[in-house]
Amino acid sequence: MTTIAIIGAGLAGAAAGLSLQEAGHQVTLFDKGRGPGGRMSTRRMETALGTVRLDHGAQFFTVRGEGLTKAVAGWTTAGACSPWQGKLIKIGADGTSEPLGGDDRYVGVGGMNQVVKAALEGLDARFGRQVLAIEGGPGAWSLRFAEGEREGPYEVVLVAVPAEQTGPLISDWVPHMAREAEAVRSAPCWAAMAVFDAPVEADYDAARLETGPLSWISRETSKPGRGGPEAWVLHGSPAWSKTHLEETADEVAQALLTAFADHATFTAPISLTAHRWRYAQIEQPAGTPFGWAESLGLGVCGDWRLGPRIEYAFASGQALAAAVIESSTL
Ligand SMILES: Cc1cc2nc3c(=O)[nH]c(=O)nc-3n(C[C@H](O)[C@H](O)[C@H](O)COP(=O)(O)OP(=O)(O)OC[C@H]3O[C@@H](n4cnc5c(N)ncnc54)[C@H](O)[C@@H]3O)c2cc1C
Repeated sequence: MTTIAIIGAGLAGAAAGLSLQEAGHQVTLFDKGRGPGGRMSTRRMETALGTVRLDHGAQFFTVRGEGLTKAVAGWTTAGACSPWQGKLIKIGADGTSEPLGGDDRYVGVGGMNQVVKAALEGLDARFGRQVLAIEGGPGAWSLRFAEGEREGPYEVVLVAVPAEQTGPLISDWVPHMAREAEAVRSAPCWAAMAVFDAPVEADYDAARLETGPLSWISRETSKPGRGGPEAWVLHGSPAWSKTHLEETADEVAQALLTAFADHATFTAPISLTAHRWRYAQIEQPAGTPFGWAESLGLGVCGDWRLGPRIEYAFASGQALAAAVIESSTL
C-alpha cells in the first residue's frame, strides 16, 4: 500500500483517486474549493421565489471512453446524473437555427457538481485546503498549505489542477513537466447568471452561438432536478471574454444580458450576477494523457493534457492512476 496525496479534487483528481484506492492504495485529496466541483461547479442562489441552482461552468458532457461509460452507469443508478432532455439548438452567424446533433448529453441531477460529488464517494477528499508547495523529497513528500500547516509524508503526490496552477507547484522537482504545463493555453469565460420571475420566451432550452458576445445560453431549469424560478446561464465567447476580462462582474452581467435579448424575450431579472473563469477551456493541450516521474513519485493529470472536456479530464486521471499502479518502484 502506497500513501498518495492528490492536489485537486475535480473530476480528474477524483478519477485518479478512485482507481488508486480500488487498487489498495491510501489516497487523500486536497482541494482549495469550498466543496466538490472544480470547473463543474454549481452556484446555489436563494431568491424570493425559491432556491435555484445554476451550472456556471461546464454545461454537459458526452460519454465515449470505457472508463467513463462505466462510471456514468454507476452515477446514473445513484441518481447523480442523467441525459439532458432539453431542446438544444445551434444558431448560425446568419441567425438561422438548427438542432444541435451529436451524442447524448449528460448533466448532474440537481447540479453539475453532483457528478463530482458522486465521483468522490468513498474517498477522503478535504476541501478548503489550498496547497502552496510540494516539499520534502522522493519517498517522503509533504504538502504546505496556505494557512501555513503541513501534511505528509506521502510516497506519491499527484497534481490534478489547471495547467496554469500546475507549473508553480512542480517546477522545482520536474522542470520538464512544468514547462509542458506552462506551454498550455486556456481561454477565459465570463458566465452570467440570470433569474426571472416570469417565463423567458425562447423556443429552445439551450443554444450554441457562432457569432456575437455569447457562445452558449442555457435554461438551467430545463435540466433534471432543478426547481425554483426560471434561471439562465449566459456564457461569453472566448474572444469576448478575453476583451472584457478585467471589467466588473456587474458590467459584464449587464452586457451579456443585453446580448441575450437578441435571442429571447424577457422582463428584468430578479437576480443577475457574473462569474469569471480565468482558465476555462483549453485551447492548446499538452497532447499526452498524463505526466509521471516514476523515480520521484510525482505525476500530473487534468483536462489540460488532452483537451477542454470533462471526458478528457476523467480519462487523464484514470490513465495516470494506471501508470502509478503499474510502476515497479512502488
Ligand atoms: C465555463 C466553462 C464551460 C465548460 N463547458 C464544458 C462542457 O459543456 N462540456 C465539457 O465536457 N467540458 C466543459 N468545460 C470544461 C470542464 O469543466 C473541464 O474540462 C473539467 O471540469 C476539468 O476537470 P479537472 O479535474 O481537470 O479540473 P478542475 O475541474 O479545474 O479541477 C481542479 C481542482 O483543483 C483545485 N485546485 C486548484 N489549485 C489548487 C491548489 N493549489 N490546492 C488545492 N486545490 C487546488 C480546484 O479548486 C479544482 O477543484 C467547461 C469549463 C468551463 C469553465
